[in-house]
Amino acid sequence: ICRLRDSGAIDDLRCEFHALEEVNHQLAPLIRQIAQASFFKYYRVDLYRPCSFWNSDGLCVLRDCEVKPADDSEIPVEWTTAAGENHGANHPIDQVDFAPFGKSYQPFGATCDYQDSDFCVLGDERSANGVYVDLLKNPERFTGYAGPSANSVWEAIYEENCFDVPAHIKALTSSQNVITEFSQFESLQQHRQALLNECKEKRVFYRVISGLHASISTHLCREYFNQTTQEWGPNLDCFMSRVGHFPDRLQNIYFNYALLLRSVFRLSSYFIDREFCTGHKEEDAWLKAKIQELVATCLALPDGFNENELFLDNEAAYLKEEFKDNFRNVTRIMDCVGCEKCRLWGKLQTRGFGTALKVLFSYDEDRLLPTADIHLDRGEVVALVNTLNQFSKSIEAIQQFHQLYHDVHYSS
Ligand code: FAD
Repeated sequence: ICRLRDSGAIDDLRCEFHALEEVNHQLAPLIRQIAQASFFKYYRVDLYRPCSFWNSDGLCVLRDCEVKPADDSEIPVEWTTAAGENHGANHPIDQVDFAPFGKSYQPFGATCDYQDSDFCVLGDERSANGVYVDLLKNPERFTGYAGPSANSVWEAIYEENCFDVPAHIKALTSSQNVITEFSQFESLQQHRQALLNECKEKRVFYRVISGLHASISTHLCREYFNQTTQEWGPNLDCFMSRVGHFPDRLQNIYFNYALLLRSVFRLSSYFIDREFCTGHKEEDAWLKAKIQELVATCLALPDGFNENELFLDNEAAYLKEEFKDNFRNVTRIMDCVGCEKCRLWGKLQTRGFGTALKVLFSYDEDRLLPTADIHLDRGEVVALVNTLNQFSKSIEAIQQFHQLYHDVHYSS
């Protein structure tokens, strides 16, 4: 971790590790406060949509997989009326068959809801089975979900819905090629070289997925349940074996954080103009002030992710459609996750990235977007902000694990 962070640069970004850590140091307390506000802590989700890709075994019964829905009395009445919540009902939605890009995993027997500009499907918002969940009471952490079901989901995401990452890149990121000590940096160089040869759009897609996977792993290792002591706490071995020994996975977490920040930056006017209604005037005003603070900080940040470098050449339009179709399939695959809590956070974060990608790539303006042009429902805004919060926490966790690694290996 140390050598990588000291090496500075992050591929495909205009800023370095330490710069993003400083940004996060500044933003983290603000993002945490915003995520605790009622507007952002309740997320509407349908956790029981059937898996459209294969016959799944249903949901696991592990205690820590369980999600407790919020009590009806907690939810502002404004959100439960069509006018207040706007579950997408006011937008014309195309009924389109599933995308043709999943190769062996074709979803069966269903159509989906999305508009051309969407990078994710919006079914949960309109589902009669959707429930509000208090995210603070159901944190992303170790659940014990593993084995064939989890493997199938990750495999489907990487093998079928990701662009074809060449075999030599996969080989470099597989467990046989773990960078066990910082001396093996040729592997990192080789990896970077191989990834750089891919076109940038495909690299971005891969980084988003791999960064999400790495962030989930970081959270489950930071809040790990030790069976022996029966206590929750950080597990360094867990982190090193899943993320810390893989420079590319570390990079991808920072990359995703920069991408999410860039989408918040582009939404600045929208965030300033939009109301965050919870039915409690004082809380709404407090939240508005916090959002303005977040926007002001984002406006002052140096450039990190630059969306204007993508989708430029002759094949851009085709590539963008393929990118969208593939990402929509990733959001659908979340219905196949066999653990409620993992499904909740998987759905929320793929939706968060779907929203960020829509903001970055579905509008013509190349900087701040005019409020009037933007169509986001509450679920998209909540998902985006909470996904940013999860990545902000992952960066903090990486710094903590770095310190822990140092204490274990170099102190005495
Ligand atoms: P996995 O993490 O399952 O990885 C499988 C293979 O993918 C690895 O062997 C490696 O070759 C490759 N790989 C791993 N990480 C990366 C990366 N970042 N980039 C590229 N390739 C990679 N478990 C929880 O305890 N809590 C959760 O909240 C949780 N959420 C989940 C959400 C989703 C959507 C899914 C699919 C699973 C979730 N899980 C969660 C399960 C967890 O992600 C692991 O699958 C599980 O812990 C088993 O881990 P593993 O060691 O088999 O490797």
